Amino acid sequence: MRTVIMGAPGAGKGTQSVRLARSWKVPHVSTGELLREAVKLGSDLGRRVKETLASGRLVSDAMMVDLLRERLAHPDCRSGFVLDGYPRTLKQVEDLDALLASMGSALDATLLIEVPDDTLLHRLSGRRSCPSCQRVYHVDQIGRRDGAVCERCGTGLTVRDDDKESTVRRRLQVYHEQTRPVLDHYRRQGSLKTVDGRGTPDEVYDRLTSLAQMANG
Ligand SMILES: [Zn+2]
Repeated sequence: MRTVIMGAPGAGKGTQSVRLARSWKVPHVSTGELLREAVKLGSDLGRRVKETLASGRLVSDAMMVDLLRERLAHPDCRSGFVLDGYPRTLKQVEDLDALLASMGSALDATLLIEVPDDTLLHRLSGRRSCPSCQRVYHVDQIGRRDGAVCERCGTGLTVRDDDKESTVRRRLQVYHEQTRPVLDHYRRQGSLKTVDGRGTPDEVYDRLTSLAQMANG
């Protein structure tokens, strides 16, 4: 299965990609991790990525294609991959299609985990994090009271900047603006499969696997 997985922040995309990849015995290719690994390995490409990130610029489309070409040509991608975090723009959709075509392959499906913004807002802005051990809680488990402490290490829980309500709203808005053209493209092409991302991770996972089976024929 060669799949792209898409979803808003808080939709559970990361968790579900890891599970799907494990069950299909293909790698989970997260572009965020790919960038970090390239920097760590210090290859020629990695050094260019590092310079770009250090200067606060965005990694160019051409650099992303180089990174993906290297990764997807790896033998472990022979029977597929779950691509997470890419493509984010129409240009990147074209780049990915061209890259796969040059390797004699194509995407089997694009999976979208769809969650209403209200639910995402509740999930994300309800997060409380331990600044010491990074464990994450949700107000649904621990209550909204102030002074809650981490079960593991006893440190007082805080709201990360990323999880503040105003920030979450902005992140969701950026997500929608950025990905709408990409989703429209895959929808027109008929390759977009949408699952309801509400409910427990197990429920969403079951929906994804049955949908992917259908996509795989
Ligand atoms: Zn802790």
